[in-house]
Amino acid sequence: MATKRDYYEILGVDKNVSAEDLKKAYRKMAIKHHPDKNPDDPTAEEKFKEAAEAYDVLNDPQKKARYDQYGHAGMAGAAGGGYGAGGPSMEDIFSQFGDVFGDDSPFGGFFRGQGGGGGRQRVRRGSDLRIKLKLNLQEVANGVEKKIKVKRHVTCNTCGGNGSKNGTAVQTCSTCQGTGQTRKVVNTMLGQMVSTSTCPTCNGEGKIVTDRCDACFGEGRVLQEDVIPIKIPAGVAEGIQLSVGSKGNVPPRGGVAGDLLIVIEEEEDADLKRDGNNVVFDLYVNFVDAAVGTSVEVPTIDGKARITLEPGTQSGKILRLKGKGIKELNGYGRGDELVHVNVWTPKALSVEERAILEKLRHSPNFQPKPNKNEKGFFDKMKDFFHG
Ligand SMILES: [Zn+2]
Ligand SMILES: [Zn+2]
Repeated sequence: MATKRDYYEILGVDKNVSAEDLKKAYRKMAIKHHPDKNPDDPTAEEKFKEAAEAYDVLNDPQKKARYDQYGHAGMAGAAGGGYGAGGPSMEDIFSQFGDVFGDDSPFGGFFRGQGGGGGRQRVRRGSDLRIKLKLNLQEVANGVEKKIKVKRHVTCNTCGGNGSKNGTAVQTCSTCQGTGQTRKVVNTMLGQMVSTSTCPTCNGEGKIVTDRCDACFGEGRVLQEDVIPIKIPAGVAEGIQLSVGSKGNVPPRGGVAGDLLIVIEEEEDADLKRDGNNVVFDLYVNFVDAAVGTSVEVPTIDGKARITLEPGTQSGKILRLKGKGIKELNGYGRGDELVHVNVWTPKALSVEERAILEKLRHSPNFQPKPNKNEKGFFDKMKDFFHG
């Protein structure tokens, strides 16, 4: 693959370019390199796509930040970032950036009317549906299958989606002859161009429904409650978005459904705190247990586990329960549970308790003698997370 050019260089802008100037720069480049305007230049399409790709990245704050930090390497394989080996298709460019040119501007018409095949039938796509889904720690850790109830627009069964009574009486719009667009020739700085705009009679649909379907009032779609089964992989995290294809809304009067987007929310667990793929449990023990040693039950993601406290366990010790953490998203590993030992100092003492402790106050074994191996809490944390 050829070396990629710098996105800023392609559009001739600097890093602090405003959104407005970026759009202007892109528009200029797109017009300059449009393949239909450069029939003798075989590199025009490549340059045109290059400009579109640069604009796609620099116009998206997240992608731009990633690009600024890592360059082209940061875009490869990134979710939603970069294009595949073939680059964006002309179709992609028009559907993504149509707003830059505007439907009603001469350029909008120029691009839409002449971009590629000409007169191509566009498949209309409905809107995406976005819902939030709350998961508890166990569901996050192991993955889960859920059935989600959503209200979505689906194709009307009565009319088959065209909005007419019995699905028949649809007439071709006479204003636009069914193309959905009206055209006129416009003089621009670049010469004559054909400007197309959305047909006002049929709103671009090319068809007119004279006898409306009773079930959907001519909309061609109805609101329906669906139960959609979804599989949540293990290891998801707050804010991650999963997409279920074609389970969003169908557009009015025919087309394909948008997607159902599921945004994950993590419910806080009463006992366990998540730290990446590890979970942390704060264990409190009294100092007799810490001094003499004992075995205690601790909560884990999958129920209880028993752990042994060695005699002489210090406050701040971290015990690791291997593999008791959260599964790696799209991976094979699994985090650990870290049990953080806190030795509890009594806050109130009876006369009798106090008398017993007073006897021990000056006992030689009760005098602190930390050695080099008794690291402080912060050193221990460092060892665990960076060791
Ligand atoms: Zn209908
Ligand atoms: Zn029309």
